[in-house]
Amino acid sequence: MNNRHPTSFLFDVVIAGAGPVGLLLACELRLAGVSVLVLEQAEIPHSPLKKLPFGMRGLTLPTIEAFYRRGLLDSLEAPGRQAKPEGKPRKQAGHFAGIPFDYDRINSSNWAYRLPSPADSNMAAEMEPVEIVLADRAQSIGVEIRRGVRVEGFAQSADGVTIQAGDQSFEGRWLVGCDGGRSVVRKGGGFSFVGTDPEFTGYSVQVDLADPEKLKLGRQLTPTGMYFQTQPGHFGMVEFDSGASHRTGPITLAHVQAVLRRISQTDVTLTALRVATSWTDRAQQATEYRKGRVLLAGDAAHIHSPLGGQGLNLGLGDAMNLGWKLAATVRGEAPDGLLDSYFSERHPIGEQILAWSRAQVSIMRPSPHARAMESIIRDLIATRDGATYFADRVWNASMRYDLGDGHALVGRSVPDFEWTDGTRLAALLADGTGLLIDFGDRAPLRSIARRWDDRVKYVEGEVKDRLGLTALLVRPDGIVAWACEGESNPEDAVEAGSRWFAVHDGG
Ligand SMILES: Cc1cc2nc3c(=O)[nH]c(=O)nc-3n(C[C@H](O)[C@H](O)[C@H](O)COP(=O)(O)OP(=O)(O)OC[C@H]3O[C@@H](n4cnc5c(N)ncnc54)[C@H](O)[C@@H]3O)c2cc1C
Repeated sequence: MNNRHPTSFLFDVVIAGAGPVGLLLACELRLAGVSVLVLEQAEIPHSPLKKLPFGMRGLTLPTIEAFYRRGLLDSLEAPGRQAKPEGKPRKQAGHFAGIPFDYDRINSSNWAYRLPSPADSNMAAEMEPVEIVLADRAQSIGVEIRRGVRVEGFAQSADGVTIQAGDQSFEGRWLVGCDGGRSVVRKGGGFSFVGTDPEFTGYSVQVDLADPEKLKLGRQLTPTGMYFQTQPGHFGMVEFDSGASHRTGPITLAHVQAVLRRISQTDVTLTALRVATSWTDRAQQATEYRKGRVLLAGDAAHIHSPLGGQGLNLGLGDAMNLGWKLAATVRGEAPDGLLDSYFSERHPIGEQILAWSRAQVSIMRPSPHARAMESIIRDLIATRDGATYFADRVWNASMRYDLGDGHALVGRSVPDFEWTDGTRLAALLADGTGLLIDFGDRAPLRSIARRWDDRVKYVEGEVKDRLGLTALLVRPDGIVAWACEGESNPEDAVEAGSRWFAVHDGG
């Protein structure tokens, strides 16, 4: 592409950033029929930091469900989900501040309204394949992705946003900043970003050691921080220096060696530095996710320490929540308040994750108080109730949006019902259309579905286990908007539905 000639395009939505969040959002918007342009500053989508071991990301249940429901799980699963030998689950299921909890202690029957499904336990995935799968899907359904284009600024009017990228400009009716933790869109849009300052500088490095036998594998807490050697020469390190060393200059071999010596209190010698990046536990969140026609999602809206392994999941959850709402807004089908519910639903989830990451930092500090607390958590996590609690939080298994009073399932992810002909609920959500599921008295709800036309799919028939329910209304993102046991009142379904799409005249 010739970058020297200014060009102007009109898209419904322009997304800054082709990271995982920008790409999933693009897929969701396009699925709902709106035109999308993604602008990405990097020329190529590859980086050693997106590959193993540094590119390994833990995926939580809402993320895996999202991929499953959009037919993307199989593409990610082969390398990502570790085999369960002889039908037995893997031992370590996750961790809190590096303290592991085991599968065989988790009592997932405590988690309400979950059915067995291919998306019912966590998995690991490599960043690069995740981005490639999402980029392929986006392009296959008509999203335009332009690489090597850095968004530098924008101006919004009542009708749209003009985006500046070098000597090019692009026009969209909406702009979404998915441009990561140092988001240009967030800064240019004047969004406040508030939270807590860092306590440490963290490093992910790959090095050659002259004397590898001096440092143990696994996680080691030390008087100045922590190091974690996954395989010889691959380190995660945390030094409690208030973040003083983060991005102050290039990360050199001499610097990494000095940090590793200070943390490990061992006189190790590095002979080569192959990969290095640093990060901190700064935890900040935007106080608004939307200003006019400009929105934020993913790391652009919230940052925290990667220790909890939650940031990607949090951002992908933003994309699933925002996609159908923004698409409905673009199409003029959104009732009042729908787009604002993106913030009211997602901001509290972000707050919880930031708090969870701070709690982990607090027991990693090199202090007697933190060590004492760590030993209590270690005891608790080894119990059945403890492991179940930590798994629930780390996997985000019981995530619930506050959609008001109603059935306990409202605001939660819909169970993966299996109809007697073998159809699974996830397959019905693949095209991103909401569902009105009727297990009971068919006539009244069928007539409601007719009023809603093709914006909601009416589904009837027998399922293997209906969990005592007679009817449900499910949003395009798989969240239950209304649920009923016993005789259903169709007007309740109509009221719940009216909160997420405008009903036709006479409807
Ligand atoms: C060491 C480490 C381990 C982690 N482990 C986990 C884990 O196990 N689980 C988990 O859930 N999360 C984890 N995370 C966090 C996770 O990687 C991030 O939260 C996630 O990548 C955020 O995705 P994003 O799309 O919002 O932003 P990014 O992945 O940062 O993508 C932003 C994209 O925008 C582009 N961009 C930036 N500025 C511009 C611009 N001005 N114009 C155009 N393009 C731009 C960038 O090039 C990039 O491609 C980890 C992070 C680190 C550092």
